[in-house]
Amino acid sequence: MRKTYKTNSALRRFIMVIAFLAMTAMVTSACGQQGTSDGKLKITTTTGMITDVVQQVGGEYVDVSGLMGAGIDPHLYKASQGDVRKLDNADIIFYNGLHLEGKMAEMFEKLEKRKPTVAVSKYLTEDQLHSAPGQGAGMHDPHIWFNVKLWISTTEVIRDTLMEKDEVHADYYKEHAAAYIKQLEELDNYAREQIARIPEADRILVTAHDAFGYFGEAYGLTVTGLQGMNTMSEYGSKDVSKLRDYLVEKKIKAVFIESSVPKKSIESVIEGARSLGHEVKIGGELYSDAMGDAGTFEGTYIGMVKHNVDTIVAALK
Ligand code: ZN
Repeated sequence: MRKTYKTNSALRRFIMVIAFLAMTAMVTSACGQQGTSDGKLKITTTTGMITDVVQQVGGEYVDVSGLMGAGIDPHLYKASQGDVRKLDNADIIFYNGLHLEGKMAEMFEKLEKRKPTVAVSKYLTEDQLHSAPGQGAGMHDPHIWFNVKLWISTTEVIRDTLMEKDEVHADYYKEHAAAYIKQLEELDNYAREQIARIPEADRILVTAHDAFGYFGEAYGLTVTGLQGMNTMSEYGSKDVSKLRDYLVEKKIKAVFIESSVPKKSIESVIEGARSLGHEVKIGGELYSDAMGDAGTFEGTYIGMVKHNVDTIVAALK
């Protein structure tokens, strides 16, 4: 009797040790799958707008590294050696796509064969996208973040990718995405209500490059830029005089500079209008292809859009 009891107890201890070892092995391998020793998914992104959404949806389970900071022009951006390392080490890469990151396209194609390399624009349909005149057949305007509704779609792409790659935390990603989408819906309403305060005839937005096409369509502004949709395209004295004449003809009071485009281009247009006796002021600085400094309100996607809306309304109303 006594002997049997002893054997059972030893067996129980043995089973417990085995179970413990098996659990340890499972936990270790789960961490290994997610790339970092602290169990977070390592994610590399291009623009600050994408970095912000990944942080909002991924929260404590992601370690996000954005390549492009404040004032950086994504059209012209080339990956540095350090960037290549970050892209190599990432578990997931998110980029805008639609040729926004014009000089990185080949790199994404190669990375795609090795790891999830996801264009956040991938759920958008042909009817939601604008064509890009002068950029070649089948090309689209990449500045999708300025229609907040389209940006909700990118939040869904990020949510679904995280849920698929890290099933253990799927509910967390789903909840965080839903909460963020709610904030974006409020932002979308805010932009529409505020722009409506500008008298209809004055709802004309003139900027350094054509980044605001989706914004104009969504919130009811006529939009024109000195440079085309891509800052790589050249502009000449013809473009300057054409825009100058437009300002004079439409009696436009204010034009806007962009944080990621040198302001001398738009200043030459203001000079031109002045020489024809029409005074135009700089209505303020808009965040077009990059957000404000990290750690500030304008350094978030929501803050960037609110800043732009408030700046435009203050100058044109
Ligand atoms: Zn742009």
